[in-house]
Amino acid sequence: EAIELITNSQKDNSYLNQYEGIWVLAEQREGELLNVSIELIGEARKLAKKKDANVTAVLVGNNLSEQAKTLINRGADKVFLLENKELENYRTEPYTQVISDLIKEEKPEIVLLGATNNGRDLGPRLAARLDTGLTADCTELDIDSEEEILLQTRPAFGGNLMATIVCPEHRPQMATVRPGVMMELEEDSNRTGEIIKIEPEIEEKNIITKIKDIIKEPKASINLESANIIVAGGRGVGCPENFSLIEELAQTVDGEVGASRAVVDEGWIQKEHQVGQTGKTVKPTLYIACGISGAIQHKAGMQNSDYIIAINKDPEAPIFDICDYGIVGDLKEIIPELIDEIA
Ligand code: FAD
Repeated sequence: EAIELITNSQKDNSYLNQYEGIWVLAEQREGELLNVSIELIGEARKLAKKKDANVTAVLVGNNLSEQAKTLINRGADKVFLLENKELENYRTEPYTQVISDLIKEEKPEIVLLGATNNGRDLGPRLAARLDTGLTADCTELDIDSEEEILLQTRPAFGGNLMATIVCPEHRPQMATVRPGVMMELEEDSNRTGEIIKIEPEIEEKNIITKIKDIIKEPKASINLESANIIVAGGRGVGCPENFSLIEELAQTVDGEVGASRAVVDEGWIQKEHQVGQTGKTVKPTLYIACGISGAIQHKAGMQNSDYIIAINKDPEAPIFDICDYGIVGDLKEIIPELIDEIA
C-alpha cells in the first residue's frame, strides 16, 4: 500500500496540460435543440471566463446546420457538427463511438451533458470509454481558484447534503447537469463562431440496434419549468378535495400548480406536478408554497425562484428559512382571503 501511495504521489500528471477548453454535448430531438443544452452553454461561458478558455458545442444528428448556428448565437465559440444518416436519432453505440473518438482527438478539459434520459445513458458510457470520472446530476459548477479544476456539486445521501466532487487526475472532467438549473444567455444573432462539419464513419458493430418506431408520450398538460408563477400544495392541504383551493389560487394569479412529493405519493395529484429532487427543478418569478414543510428534497427543486411566499401553520417550518414572505396560519382560511384580495 505504501509503495502504491509513493507511486501515485510521484505520478507524472503533465499530460493533464494537453487538455483544454470546455465542451457541451448539445442534445436535439427530431432536430429541436433541448433547453438544457442552451443552459449549459450559458454555464460553460461563465466557467470559461474563470479559466480563460473557449466554449465548444458538439452536435450530433443529421441536417442540423441551422441548429449549429443557434448554438453559436447562444454563446459557443465553435461547434463540431457530426452528421450522418445513422446519427439522426440517439442510439447509445454510434453516439458513444463518434463522440469518444472526437474527445480522444481534441482533448477537451471539461465535458458537460444534460442530465436527461439520453445524457444519463451516454455520459457514463463515454466516461468509461475515456477512462475518466463523471459526476451525475450536478446542480452547481465552479472552477477552483487555486487548482483550476472543476468543482462539481450535487445532492448526496438522499439530498441531505450537497457534495462537491473533483476529478483531479483524469481528463476530461465530466458532469451531467440537471435541466432548468443553469442560466441561458440571450440569443445574439451577431455572434460569430466556427462550425466544423464532420461526417464520421460508423463502425458496423455499432449500428446493430435499429429504431423501429418512436412512440411519443402524450404531451404534458403543464410546463412547470417555464412557468412564471407556481402555486404549490403539500400535505398541509389536508385532502385531495382541498387541492381545488390551490388550483383556484393558481388560476387567480395566472400560474401553474405544483406539488410536494408527499401529495404525489398520496395520489392527490399527478407526478408531472411534483417539484423537487425527484421532480421538476423550477425557477419562476413567484413560488407560493402552501402547506409544504420545506424538506431539503423539496427545496432542491425551487429555492432558485425569484420570490418565495410560504403559507404554513407551523412557524418553525423550514420553508420559512428560505421564503421572502411568510404567512403563519391555516391555508384553508388564508388562501380564500388571498383570492378575494387579488381577484
Ligand atoms: P410534510 O412534510 O408532511 O409537511 C406538511 C406541512 O404542512 C407541515 O409543515 C405543516 O405544518 C403544514 N400544514 C399542515 N396543515 C396545514 C394547514 N391547514 N395550513 C397550513 N399549513 C399546514 N419531496 C418533494 O417535495 N419533492 C421531491 O422531489 C422529493 N424527493 C425526495 C427524494 C428522496 C430520495 C427522499 C428521501 C425524499 C424526497 N422527498 C421529496 C420527500 C421529502 O423528504 C418530504 O417528505 C416531502 O417534501 C414532504 O412533503 P410536504 O412538505 O408536503 O409534507
